[in-house]
Amino acid sequence: MFAATGAGFIICQYDPFIGFFRFGADFNMIIFGMSMLLLGTVVARPYCRFLCPYGVLLDWMSRLSRRHVRITPDECNNCRLCEESCPFGAIKKADDETPPVRRESDVKRFAAIFVLLPVVVFGSGWVGSRLDISLSRLHPTVSLAEEVLLENAGKRTEMTDATKAFRATGKPSEELFAEAKSIQNQFRKGGWILGGFIGVILCLKLISLFIRRRRLEYDIDKGACLSCGRCFAYCPYEQVRLGLMTPEELKELDRRDVKIKQFRA
Ligand code: SF4
Ligand code: SF4
Repeated sequence: MFAATGAGFIICQYDPFIGFFRFGADFNMIIFGMSMLLLGTVVARPYCRFLCPYGVLLDWMSRLSRRHVRITPDECNNCRLCEESCPFGAIKKADDETPPVRRESDVKRFAAIFVLLPVVVFGSGWVGSRLDISLSRLHPTVSLAEEVLLENAGKRTEMTDATKAFRATGKPSEELFAEAKSIQNQFRKGGWILGGFIGVILCLKLISLFIRRRRLEYDIDKGACLSCGRCFAYCPYEQVRLGLMTPEELKELDRRDVKIKQFRA
């Protein structure tokens, strides 16, 4: 929304690592960057995975991709060897073999969310539209108009560099105020869209809790997987392909797996 309204790429101002690359950032950003680095020692790539908007776009696009790495491209015997191998938590476990029982309460909750969807979307859209004034202040024209307004009203005696530059252009203040008003209107419309979008995502997330396809094999979450390949070496099929394990050893593993399953059953 900020980019579309011309306010700029606000998120770029909060890149925690830009201070290190450019050898310059304010103190708060350095602290933020160092915190992210420290957090990265226990949680894999926290900024890229949970905060970066580009990461979100890549997540969505990855889900649409036709080709994607899989732990093992053809077979999986659910040996679980890869289960803990992904540092990004992108491996989805196979479901239990017992058929899922659809609970009546789940169906009721699903129906309730479905009915409430328009209300939630409208409500969050309305909340988004109410943020127009505060969000639009991040636009340089709107913040300049507010400063000029304060000076014109005599509430501020000292001019800033920006207001001095504006007054030197000879442009009438009214023209600036009209521009700022039009930008605020754009933010109001954008707020509706943004809020409505967040409402839709919220409802879809809730609905997805009640809709589950049964997964018969270990697979990856396409959106969360970074295709680093670290899990491959854990898979016995991959080890056979690489010549690190013989097919006979794999069969032995399969037999053991069957026995374990029988034991569990
Ligand atoms: S390729 Fe990397 S990110 Fe993807 S599931 Fe395997 S270990 Fe995780
Ligand atoms: S290691 Fe390979 S065979 Fe074993 S559960 Fe993972 S993908 Fe399946």
